[in-house]
Amino acid sequence: KLASREFHPDDTIIEVKGVKIGGNNLVVMGGPCAVETPEQIDEIARLVKAAGGQVLRGGAFKPRTGPYSFQGIGIEGLKWMKDAGDKYGLLTITEVMAPEFVDVCAEYADIMQVGTRNMQNFDLLRKLGTINNPVLLKRGMSATYDEWLNAAEYILAGGNPNVMLCERGIRTFETYTRNTFDLAAVPVVQQLSHLPVIADPSHATGRRELVETMTKASVAAGANGLIIEMHTDPDNSATGDGVQSLFPDQFANLLKELEQLAPLC
Ligand code: PEP
Ligand code: MN
Repeated sequence: KLASREFHPDDTIIEVKGVKIGGNNLVVMGGPCAVETPEQIDEIARLVKAAGGQVLRGGAFKPRTGPYSFQGIGIEGLKWMKDAGDKYGLLTITEVMAPEFVDVCAEYADIMQVGTRNMQNFDLLRKLGTINNPVLLKRGMSATYDEWLNAAEYILAGGNPNVMLCERGIRTFETYTRNTFDLAAVPVVQQLSHLPVIADPSHATGRRELVETMTKASVAAGANGLIIEMHTDPDNSATGDGVQSLFPDQFANLLKELEQLAPLC
């Protein structure tokens, strides 16, 4: 299989506009759960850059559990995020939920995120195989490693070699944390596959007070990068995931500590 170590013994290194993802590089993606206003995404982009992050995250299309929750700004939000990324020299990553939105998302954002709920949206995966933008494929919340790697295989088989895997926690009996962070997934899929592995301690724990510790644990486990939610006003104005979003100063301090563990690429 294309995703396997047997097929490709060396680590895949995905290079996007000079940023290398994979191998010994550590990439940090930071930003809000959702793009909310032009001012919000501009200010958060400034903070991500100042802290040493390389990629601005933000959802313009949000996969919400209920239909009455904020569903995202849509295409307008992609434009605001692109402006912010260009202004501060950051790559951007955004979630794409349906095949018909792949082209517009790929026009405005550098990296395409496939959310946990869409890991086996095979039409979406097939469409992502036809573009060149890197894809961050989140693990389905109840997907095995084999199912996750097979989902990656759909994208690779379509001709897009730029796939990274993201562990974001799985469903277990435990409810204290939002999900159960399966940190063993990091070394396991690195043994099975050459693709970069990114950890998402924000969704994996659902609790701000756990994100810093689990970020460091992810690096210790060998993760090639992190995707971390951060917001300027997580407790009041965030449209989603405020309780797991770091404050800007926490994010900046965390990245300072990370730089001691591994140089940011
Ligand atoms: C997100 O990154 O905001 C998100 C919705 O993630 P997940 O698909 O892991 O729930
Ligand atoms: Mn989120």
